[in-house]
Amino acid sequence: MNLHTPLTNVRGVGPKTGQTLSVAGLATVEDMLNFYPRTYEDYENVENVADVKPGKVVIRAKVEKINNRYARRNMIITTATLVDNNGDKVQATWFNQPYRKSQLENGGEFYFSGELSFKYGRYQIVSPTCQAVRGLPVTSDRIVPVYSVKAGLKPSLTKKIMTELKPLITMLPETLPPDVVGEAGLMARSEAVRELHFPSSRERLAEARRRLAFEELFSLILAARMNRNSNQQLHGYQISFNQPAIRDFVADLPFDLTPVQRRSAWEILQDFDGPAPMNRLLQGDVGSGKTVVAAIAAYQAAIDGYQTAIMVPTEVLATQHAATLNNLLAGKGISVALLTGSVKGKARDELLEHLANGDIQVLVGTHALFQPSVKFHKLGFVVIDEQHRFGVKQRQELLAKTDDRHLPHLLSMTATPIPRSLQLTVFGDLDVSTLDQLPKGRQVIKTKIILPNARAEVVDMVNQELSAGRQVYYITKLIEESATSEKTSAEALYKKVVATYPGYRVGILHGKMPAESKEKVMRQFEAHEIDILVSTTVVEVGVDVPNATVMVIENADQFGLAQLHQLRGRVGRGRHQSYCYLIQTDSKPPTRRLKEIERSNDGFHLAEVDLEMRGAGEIYGTAQHGELNLRIANLADTRMIHLASVEADKVMHRLTNNPEYLAKYPELNSIINRYQKLTTLN
Ligand code: ADP
Ligand code: MG
Repeated sequence: MNLHTPLTNVRGVGPKTGQTLSVAGLATVEDMLNFYPRTYEDYENVENVADVKPGKVVIRAKVEKINNRYARRNMIITTATLVDNNGDKVQATWFNQPYRKSQLENGGEFYFSGELSFKYGRYQIVSPTCQAVRGLPVTSDRIVPVYSVKAGLKPSLTKKIMTELKPLITMLPETLPPDVVGEAGLMARSEAVRELHFPSSRERLAEARRRLAFEELFSLILAARMNRNSNQQLHGYQISFNQPAIRDFVADLPFDLTPVQRRSAWEILQDFDGPAPMNRLLQGDVGSGKTVVAAIAAYQAAIDGYQTAIMVPTEVLATQHAATLNNLLAGKGISVALLTGSVKGKARDELLEHLANGDIQVLVGTHALFQPSVKFHKLGFVVIDEQHRFGVKQRQELLAKTDDRHLPHLLSMTATPIPRSLQLTVFGDLDVSTLDQLPKGRQVIKTKIILPNARAEVVDMVNQELSAGRQVYYITKLIEESATSEKTSAEALYKKVVATYPGYRVGILHGKMPAESKEKVMRQFEAHEIDILVSTTVVEVGVDVPNATVMVIENADQFGLAQLHQLRGRVGRGRHQSYCYLIQTDSKPPTRRLKEIERSNDGFHLAEVDLEMRGAGEIYGTAQHGELNLRIANLADTRMIHLASVEADKVMHRLTNNPEYLAKYPELNSIINRYQKLTTLN
């Protein structure tokens, strides 16, 4: 037997099991060994029932009594009385796991691991895992791998097959060059995989995970470095930095640029003036003034004869951006146009003609910019606002709109700051400019968590602001479990708001409205023909109405951290003190998320917290990240990322001296290739 042996040739795997395995996508010995445990149960710190306290507990007990019963909505509740060696008893409860009864009722001792909490009038362990004492290895620290159920493949079967395959683990090849393994102090790959499936001690398991995490991060960073290198080999349009013209442009702006805006603009214009196409991320908190930085660059492109395409995620935002850019550029003789899905018929034909002959110098739009019929005269600069909403594929499509010898310069802008660790890894092929200072005179938005019974406080404050001539946002979210659509939930809140604030003009905005109506409402709100705007999260990104001073978010506990911060950023944009109210769905103690938002106005801090709490996959849930497939590595682990990037740099250096340096590592090469394809722009 070897790594490529089909699992059906393994002892104990009959045709039926073979079928199950193949449905789960596991065909060979190697596939199986690469199916890592989901987590581990640690049965070492077992407590007596008499000593357990609320929180995570592990006990060793027999089952005295166990019953299934039906509750509301077809829920099956299993309750058991567990009794330990000393005769002390505690209750355990499972939901919709009726099989626990047959698993546990035939006697024997088990380890139970779960949360002890006070519920329904008594202490109980809720949904504990159960591990028969008899089946456990005696020599280990009693750390037991837990496999997930994969397409009908039961964890018990997985364990049985793993035990059969254990002797073959030594055949797994080393994937990293020996220099790297040595320098980073890593365990050999095969040893690490063995520890993962058969942990010999807590320390060795930690070492094994460290090794595999390193490998994932190292490949990711190396791929990004290689992409960046190959980007440097591409041809861009060299747009020479016209310093006097830019100085005049900046001097004519209605405000002084912040030092960080100056520096970012300068970095972009330096990139323009090089032979390779720019690939830069401009990150800055909401309100930090990214748009004007993009406008300066678009101006420079235009006076050198190049067109700019600015892509934004929503029509509302596209409309507003087009107006802003028109204000900034029209006076300088630069023509700005707007292309969205609602530009149709003759107007569209004309616009496309002016675009193709170069009359239009700056085009702002939504996804509509991707359509094949959209042809530019000389596209030199592409700006993608709120870049985390766009996948690499879309960026590639847009870049494909240029002639095949040159790639336009690319600027991605995001108000969700990218934590440093992600800058090195997932976004490692980008150069980064950061706006970490807000323009002068911005005040801190006063943020407060509101329990449902304290709503009166919000109503008072809203009334006060309305009578002072300010405007207000009310944001609603559809609640996942209920069948309420976005429209219904917005309309329900609209009715409530109309009834609460008689005499004020209330508008409504939600995703299901036709684009023209959305724009009309936005225009009315901007023109102060509407006092209160009830909306779903369609106002989340970018919208700029400086007279709005109160942001009320209903069911705030249902929003993500980044989203809450974005929403809050819709106020505090003018000279008036602004407020944000986070109304909880219920009276439970506030979640950490809400507390962090209440405490901090700093998007960079919040992004770090978000990364730590949720992991990168969820935050940057774009296709590109989902496919990164990091199984062990934690993208918030800055120390490991640092180590991996130091090693990646050394490898890049060795590669310049010896291009064959990685030739002997086909596995590593294929991982790097896969990552490269996911992040490359060419
Ligand atoms: P964001 O970075 O969130 O996209 P915007 O570009 O929309 O921010 O800018 C927010 C507001 O700040 C706009 O009204 C813009 O005109 C204004 N602004 C930008 N830069 C400055 C500055 N240096 N001083 C004062 N106001 C500025
Ligand atoms: Mg913006």
